[in-house]
Amino acid sequence: MPRRKTVDHTAPLWVEAGNPTEAVLVSVAPVAPIDKLYTYTVDDELAHLVLPGRRVMVPFGRKGRLAPAIVVSVTRGPWNSTLKPVAEILEEAGSLSDHLIDLGKWISDYYYCPLGRSLAAMVPEAVRKKRGFQTVRHARLVADSETIEGSRLGPKQKQLIAKLLEGDGAFEVGMLLEQSGASRSTLRGLIDKGWVEETQSKVAVSYEPVQATKVTPSYSMNDAQQAALDRIEAGIADDAFKSFLLFGVSGSGKTEVYIRAMQRVVESGKQAIMLVPEIALTAQLMKRVAQRFDRVAVIHSGLTGVERSLAWEDIRLGHTPVVVGTRSAIFAPCPDIGLIVVDEEQEPSYKNLQSPRFHVRDVAIMRAQKLGVPVLLGSATPSLETWNNCLHRKAYERLNLPTRVMDKSMPAVKLVDMTHRTAPSKTVTISEPLQTALAETLERKQQSVVLINRRGFASWLFCPTCKTRIECRRCNAGMILHRSRKILLCHHCHEQTPIPDRCPQMSCGGRLLTGGGGAERVEDELKQMFPTAQIMRADSDTMNHATKYTELVTKMEKGEVDILLGTQMIAKGLDFPGVALVGVIGADLAGAAGDFRASERLFQLVTQVAGRAGRAETEGRVLVQTLSPSLPALRSSLTHDYCSFVESELAFRKEQYLPPFTRMARIVISGKRESELIADGTAIVERIRSVVEELDGGDSGVRVLGPHPCVLERLRGSYRFELLLVARTATELNKVLGSVRASGGFKSKSRSLMIDVDPVALS
Ligand code: ADP
Ligand code: ZN
Repeated sequence: MPRRKTVDHTAPLWVEAGNPTEAVLVSVAPVAPIDKLYTYTVDDELAHLVLPGRRVMVPFGRKGRLAPAIVVSVTRGPWNSTLKPVAEILEEAGSLSDHLIDLGKWISDYYYCPLGRSLAAMVPEAVRKKRGFQTVRHARLVADSETIEGSRLGPKQKQLIAKLLEGDGAFEVGMLLEQSGASRSTLRGLIDKGWVEETQSKVAVSYEPVQATKVTPSYSMNDAQQAALDRIEAGIADDAFKSFLLFGVSGSGKTEVYIRAMQRVVESGKQAIMLVPEIALTAQLMKRVAQRFDRVAVIHSGLTGVERSLAWEDIRLGHTPVVVGTRSAIFAPCPDIGLIVVDEEQEPSYKNLQSPRFHVRDVAIMRAQKLGVPVLLGSATPSLETWNNCLHRKAYERLNLPTRVMDKSMPAVKLVDMTHRTAPSKTVTISEPLQTALAETLERKQQSVVLINRRGFASWLFCPTCKTRIECRRCNAGMILHRSRKILLCHHCHEQTPIPDRCPQMSCGGRLLTGGGGAERVEDELKQMFPTAQIMRADSDTMNHATKYTELVTKMEKGEVDILLGTQMIAKGLDFPGVALVGVIGADLAGAAGDFRASERLFQLVTQVAGRAGRAETEGRVLVQTLSPSLPALRSSLTHDYCSFVESELAFRKEQYLPPFTRMARIVISGKRESELIADGTAIVERIRSVVEELDGGDSGVRVLGPHPCVLERLRGSYRFELLLVARTATELNKVLGSVRASGGFKSKSRSLMIDVDPVALS
């Protein structure tokens, strides 16, 4: 439990401050959907505990109901009688530097999230609670020798004072009592007399930063790597903001460039943050990074509260030169950042799926810009946004690593046309060519990776008698059969039900068909095909703990796995030299229906997973099973041709008035009554249109689409409708949204409304 400081409401603070007109003024942002800041006062004595970023309780409204709020700033200023005091200081940790407060304000403005909520999201709960810290008490003698000599003391008191007189500083209380033989109550008595002062502090129980034996690679950088590094180093030396895009195929040595750039920063006494999109990637990367730096911290969702809290404090104190982590690591409180690296910058998992709905890459760019330091984005398949920025913006520079290191060739990619396989009940998910290739690879004692983009055993259950699909009762989505867990699971709301034997319709009771194989089913098939092979499945069902990733990496590296099967979490970044074959099952657009980025995602996925093959001596090959063999995105991925893909895709986006040529905001309204939502959505659209009209007489690039039902029409029992707002620039978009919101145009009691600026998925 954090120690709570309750503030005495009656304390006349203006008198204590010595100046009746001055007080400590605390500006706070409520942790509620309220956009205003409020000012309170605080007792001088407690002012040092009230720091920006910390949570306090303050009275709101006429009734003075207490609610939590985050401190935004603390100043001294004129006091007046309407100011109320802060009621309670909830935490003694989790403060934010001015720079991070400033970043939080940007997040709040740009992503339409109340400031209090944005600031709250920047500090992990465990850090606020100071998990892993113990309270240590120290005692110090404050009475002067005259007072002591002039008093009659008991023998225990004498012993205690004698001990305290031995040193001139403070004694840790436990040790003091032990060495003097006095009791706690004797000490208490002296404290009450005002002779001894007791102070408390929190110290870390034990913190072990990630450390490894130092390894210096035997190779030297190739020309392309060196040229890229030279540019980045020049950027670091410039001490100014700049965005670099390191564009290089998988295995071209990007990570090595990140590491060397970070080394340069660390040599100059600053810190670097390196962001990765998935927790699965931190395990392998950590090892590699730890071998190159004295001390590294890792921040991801798999940490315990204690681990997170201790690492955060170590970072804040500037003890950790390098921080590697997923989303939340972007807010790591490094005191003096010199570089931020964002690996796989195109990854949609960088987008926060709750308010504040920020994109980590964009926050990284903004943080670097505010600090005046470079940001290094890396990818084999950059997002169209970043690519386009490199074409048109001065602050962006593209650095190319066109080939794999050591002249290793890119793996050959072949499509396997699955269109002729139709009968669902007999579907075997693994095609003959893939089966043959797997057998050959096993024979050669090499490793294979099989990617399937779905979890579970079957993605649909169908009753042919009454022609219905088994759906979640709260979402319009099919239930997914998870055989190992013996449940049907809704992947949207996590509702679980037992697996029915027969059609659950009372009057029907027909036999159910299952189909649409997921990872579990493929695992089954593989086990039947290759009974002696070591098969490992990696999806969010099996990878339910951070240690599982380390286990996976170790097993793969030791060659204890023949076939690694998994969902997209295994598609990216992992570097296993022994992988000779990659199979992709179900490469088509079905998973991303209705999303304008579907082609981009498909191209990225196939290219990335293909990059897992043939990273060392072994020649790699890739087989991609698809129902849509003529898709241009797939065609380009056959030849690893990002440039031709991006060229045609950019032309399409431009013609369609879509990002990156425009900026988009998605507004989703949801509620129980469909007809109300439609009426409400239509009213919002009209309000937006009239704002647009007012702002620039209708001559603007702002377009409003909708309301129309979301792809996921019903979720957790609520209907969902979306509106899309498209503008030429972020500034235009911001103006319109801001103006509608300021006039209360989004308010309603009967439904909820979500604004997603720069959405990465339209589901
Ligand atoms: P990427 O991040 O682009 O996939 P990596 O940096 O992981 O590429 O490099 C792929 C592999 O090649 C790694 O095992 C790395 O240690 C090695 N490597 C990197 N640069 C070189 C180089 N210049 N010469 C030889 N090997 C290299
Ligand atoms: Zn559901």
